[in-house]
Amino acid sequence: TARTDDVLRLENVTKRFGGVVAVDDLSFSVHDGEILGFIGPNGAGKSTTFNCVSGAFPPTDGTVYYQGEDITGVPQYALVERGLARTYQTFRPLEDRTVLENVSLSMVPNKLFSFSEFRTDVEDRAREICQQVGLTEYMHQMPDELPHAGLLRLEVGRALGTEPDLLLVDEPFAGLTPEEVDRTATLFRSLREDGMTLIVIDHNMHGLLDLVDRVVVISFGEKIAEGTPDEIRNDPTVQEAYLGG
Ligand code: ADP
Ligand code: MG
Repeated sequence: TARTDDVLRLENVTKRFGGVVAVDDLSFSVHDGEILGFIGPNGAGKSTTFNCVSGAFPPTDGTVYYQGEDITGVPQYALVERGLARTYQTFRPLEDRTVLENVSLSMVPNKLFSFSEFRTDVEDRAREICQQVGLTEYMHQMPDELPHAGLLRLEVGRALGTEPDLLLVDEPFAGLTPEEVDRTATLFRSLREDGMTLIVIDHNMHGLLDLVDRVVVISFGEKIAEGTPDEIRNDPTVQEAYLGG
C-alpha cells in the first residue's frame, strides 16, 4: 500500500526489449529518508529498472510516481532538475576535464541553476563535494588517472552536483576492496543523514545488507522478496535465486 512519505513508487512496471521481458510487472515503494537495497542476480533487470525510473527510457507498461507525481516517460534532464539523480554501472566522466571540472560541470543542470538562485559558488561547492566523496587529492587530475574506486566516487560526486533528493546508485561496490566498500557505505550513510533518499543496487547481497534499511529482491525481472535485511537473509526464495535453479 502507498504511504504518504513515499518518495518513489513503481506500479506494475514492465519493460520489454523485443521478446525479452527485462522487468516484469514490478511494484515497490521507497520511503523518504531510507536506503533501499535493490538486489538481484546479474541480468535480473536492476539497471533496466533504474533506466525506467530515471527517464533514460519509458517502461513498456506501468507507472512511476516520484514525490507523489506521475513521472512515467518524463525525460532524464527534467527529472534531474526535480532532484532525481543516478549513477551508471559503466562510468561516464568527461575524459578531457579534471575531476574538479567534472563535478563543477555536473552542477550546470541542477535545480539551483534552473530556478531560484544562480549559484556563484560553483567551484566552492564542487570542492566540497570532492572532499565529501574523498577525491580532494585527485581534484586536479584527469579521470583516466584515477584508480577504480576513485572513478566510482567521481560518479557519485557528479550525481551529488545535481543536488539530488533521491539518488539511484548502480552497483557501487563492484570491484572494491573491503576497505573501499566500508568507505563507500559510510558515504551513503552520511548522505542519508543529510536527508537524502537512496536506492543502491548490488548483485551480491551480503555486502549490502549491513548498509540498507530495507531490501527489494528481483529475479528474472520479478520481485521475489521485500523486507528488512534480517527477513531477506533468511528468505528461502532469495537463497534459491542465488544458488540458481
Ligand atoms: P541487471 O542490471 O540486473 O544485471 P539488466 O537490467 O542490465 O540486468 O538486464 C536485464 C535483461 O534485459 C537482460 O536480459 C539484458 O540482456 C536485457 N537488456 C538490458 N538492456 C537492454 C537493451 N538496451 N536492449 C536489449 N536488451 C536489454
Ligand atoms: Mg546492471
